[in-house]
This record gives sequence, structure tokens and C-alpha cells, in this order.
Amino acid sequence: RAKAEGRNGWRFFAAPMEAHARQVMQIEADLRQALARGELVLHYQPQVELCSGRIVGAEALLRWYRNGALVTPGAFLAVAEETGLIGPINEWVMREACRQAAAWCAAGLPRLRMGVNLSPVQFRHQDVPAMVLAALEASGLDPRLLELELTEGILMNQGEEMAATLQSLRDRGVHLSVDDFGTGYSSFSYVKSFPVDRLKIDQSFVGGMIDEPNSAAIVRTIIELAHTLGLQVVAEGVETEAQLEALRAEGCDEVQGYYFSRPIPAEAFARLVQAGLVSATSLAAPHPQV
Ligand code: C2E
Ligand code: MG
Ligand code: MG
Ligand code: MG
Repeated sequence: RAKAEGRNGWRFFAAPMEAHARQVMQIEADLRQALARGELVLHYQPQVELCSGRIVGAEALLRWYRNGALVTPGAFLAVAEETGLIGPINEWVMREACRQAAAWCAAGLPRLRMGVNLSPVQFRHQDVPAMVLAALEASGLDPRLLELELTEGILMNQGEEMAATLQSLRDRGVHLSVDDFGTGYSSFSYVKSFPVDRLKIDQSFVGGMIDEPNSAAIVRTIIELAHTLGLQVVAEGVETEAQLEALRAEGCDEVQGYYFSRPIPAEAFARLVQAGLVSATSLAAPHPQV
């Protein structure tokens, strides 16, 4: 230490790194506590079927009430992954999402698909199928109501072994979707090699589809690709009526975004489902509701 301090310039150079390391350690310590104290929660965002206007699914999105303020995963998931805390966090997410979905069924809500995000790191360090099956068993949830959202980071590197892992889950009835579709490098090859059910069009393309011909073309192409392969397609990040109508015109199956609802707590989500969410919006207008 004395030596380090004696060297001129060392402090100057090291201070920002030290500060970063301290920050990471602080977030890690706080997160660990948050997990233990139940300060992590899931919010749910509806997925709406375009032809019926009904909520058919929920995506579970992780939130942290840190000193009373709501923190979104962008601010802490990277730290969780760096420190290995992602393991217990993902395990908690899976159990909580399955528990909630089963509770909604038991409360008499219509059958809703529950989407849960998985991180690439998780597949390297955890037995994902075992974790998923344990959560299904503990909750009693019908596996067909669970959908795992995979990113291309998961699908890209791991070849046949990953295909076998995913197939084992699918054999149990669990559904699989590709999240942020279109942002990766090898989209076409992995939809061919992996047993997925649904593509989620990345919100950047949806956000651009009204003003940028290229984004519109990409959205159209993804929808066509999905349907040609017998897959369903969900558009993420739908914020405006114009986007909604364009997606309807392209034959998109489902939509998700702030236009309908932000991610919200479980009780609010259940109320939304019971109220029939979108009947009040333009969604129902062109086609009469059944
Ligand atoms: P994602 O899975 O692609 O989730 C969609 C993100 O877009 C969410 O951000 C959601 O709140 C946001 N979003 C939804 N509709 C709109 C919209 O109309 N406009 C805009 N601008 N944004 C919209 P969020 O909740 O901050 O999550 C960010 C990412 O963090 C997720 O991206 C997912 O990759 C990851 N994540 C979230 N929860 C979990 C989790 O429980 N486990 C893991 N491993 N990752 C998670
Ligand atoms: Mg997702
Ligand atoms: Mg996404
Ligand atoms: Mg994302």
C-alpha cells in the first residue's frame, strides 16, 4: 500500500476504477439483502392478441424497490451477472412468476401465458431445465402456460447441447420465444436449429416502422418469416395507434407495449384482465369483438 501511494500517478489512474469496484460491491451487497428481504418484485406487462383484443399473456419483468424507489433491471442486472447473484435472482424470478400464474388460474382468471426472461449467463452456470421444472412443480402451474424468453446470446454459441436442453423443456410442454428478434447476428440460423414457438420483434424496429421504410420492411419480413416457419410473432414496444394499425395490417399475431400498459404490479394486472383491457381502445374498432 505504501509503495502504491508512493508512486506518482497511480492514484490518479486507479481512483475511478476503485470507485467503480466499490459501487459494484455496494450494489451487490444491497441486492443480496433485497433478495433476502423480499424487495425484489415482478411487474407484468400484457400481451394482447390482435384479432380478439384479449390479453393472452403476461411478461414478467424484474423490479427492485431500493429505498422506496423503483429500479429497473438495466441498472442492476449487469452487476448481478458479474457477481454471480444472477443465479439466485433468476431462480427467485422463475418461482415467483410460476407461483403468480398459478394463483391467477386458481382465482379464475382466463388462462394466461407467463413469459419469463432468461439470461445467457444463467445457462452457463445453472441447470436451467432442473430450475424450471422445480418451479413448475412447486407452483403446480401447467407447463404449457410458461414461456421462456431467450435472447440470441443464449442461442448463438452453444450449438447442439443447447438445442437438446431446450428440447427437453419443450417436451414437457414449456414454450420458448426468441426475445429482441432481429437485433442478433444469426437470427436465421437459430430459428432453424432451435425448437422455438414465437418470435418477439425487437422494439427498435416497431419504434421505427412508421417513419423509416427500412424498419417497416424488417417488421414485415420477420412476420412473414415467422408465419412461413409456423411460428407466432409478438411485436414489442408498441406505443402508438399508428404502429398498432400497421402491425395489424401486416398480420402480426400479438402486441405488447406502453400503448396498452406499462409493466404493472400483479394486482393491477389482474384488474386489467378482468376489465377486458383494450375494449376501450381502437384495437376493437376495425373488427367487432366476439
Ligand atoms: P425485454 O425482455 O426485451 O423486455 C422489454 C423491455 O421493454 C422492458 O424493459 C419493458 O418495460 C420495456 N417496454 C415494454 N413496452 C415498451 C414500450 O412501449 N416502449 C418502451 N420504450 N419500452 C417498453 P425493462 O423492464 O427495463 O427490462 C429490460 C430488460 O431486462 C428486458 O428486456 C430483459 O432482457 C431484462 N430483464 C427484465 N426482467 C428480467 C428477469 O427477470 N430476468 C432476466 N434474466 N432478465 C430480465
Ligand atoms: Mg423479454
Ligand atoms: Mg425484448
Ligand atoms: Mg431487451
